[in-house]
Amino acid sequence: MADRYSRQELFKEIGKEGQKRIENSSITIVGVGALGSVSADLLVRAGIGRMKIFDNDKVEESNLQRQSLYVENDVSKYKVEALKIHLEKINSNVRIEAITERICAENIDKIKADVIIDGTDNMETRFLLNEYSKKGKIPFIYGAASGSIGVVYNVLADGACLSCIFNDSKNLATCDTDGVISSTTHIVASMQVAEALKIILGKNPSKELMRFDVWKNKFENFKVNKSAKCMVCIGEYSLLDKKNYEEFVVSECKTKSAYTAKPKKKMLLDIRKITKNFETVEDAVIIAVIKIKDEEIIVHDYGELLFKTLTEVDRIKEIAKEIYKVGKR
Ligand SMILES: [Zn+2]
Repeated sequence: MADRYSRQELFKEIGKEGQKRIENSSITIVGVGALGSVSADLLVRAGIGRMKIFDNDKVEESNLQRQSLYVENDVSKYKVEALKIHLEKINSNVRIEAITERICAENIDKIKADVIIDGTDNMETRFLLNEYSKKGKIPFIYGAASGSIGVVYNVLADGACLSCIFNDSKNLATCDTDGVISSTTHIVASMQVAEALKIILGKNPSKELMRFDVWKNKFENFKVNKSAKCMVCIGEYSLLDKKNYEEFVVSECKTKSAYTAKPKKKMLLDIRKITKNFETVEDAVIIAVIKIKDEEIIVHDYGELLFKTLTEVDRIKEIAKEIYKVGKR
């Protein structure tokens, strides 16, 4: 297919030489939801050489509104596994590695690439990626979308980092709380891909924070400065060096007003072992409802736990550890 990249080779900023550079480059996308699945699509079509995709979530019906490559048949499959199949049909020249893991301090070295793209939906992981980017001098393209507002920022070796800008704020809105429209997420992903190509080609990637509101037709650029107080920029990587590893994450599920625990890596639970060891309300082979000290917990065989009434995170962590210890295959 000699013609395959003809349109982007005609674009003078890329040309035939730039195309070769793209084909010799590697990209990692962390999180393949609304942002990551779209940037994966565009980069595979652009002919990137190698791509690693990381995510430990499964496709849900509510994802289909904006996560373009997924289809109805993909619901309940692991996102990275479903996505890899679609991407390979689009461009069989690209070497794609799908990894069903949530990125944390212990496995972060696996993401090594020429450029890292943010497809996550939480600040905790982004701050970790920010440290990894600064420490290893690997460009990291931050992207976020909420409602009709999108933000993109390049964390580069010499500029301000996410900690300089956001001051470790953990409570920024996510699409769970404010909703989001597909135009917003597609624009953010498209801008991230354009920045990734500029970085690969050495063509002046943006040094400013780019923000738009697609509903109000507003596009703005903000100059950002390095903070003298930023610990990351002076070389202290507290998240990368974090000990006390936990194999799961607890998060508040906004839509169901309950708490969930999800394994960071693919996990299979033996529901029979669990129902044998805990008071059981319901047992349906792949899912069970158990009771621990009057608290009901729904246990899925793929490791997700739903706490219907408990709200105390430390207690939830304790119980989750107990359940995983008993049921892990
Ligand atoms: Zn900084």
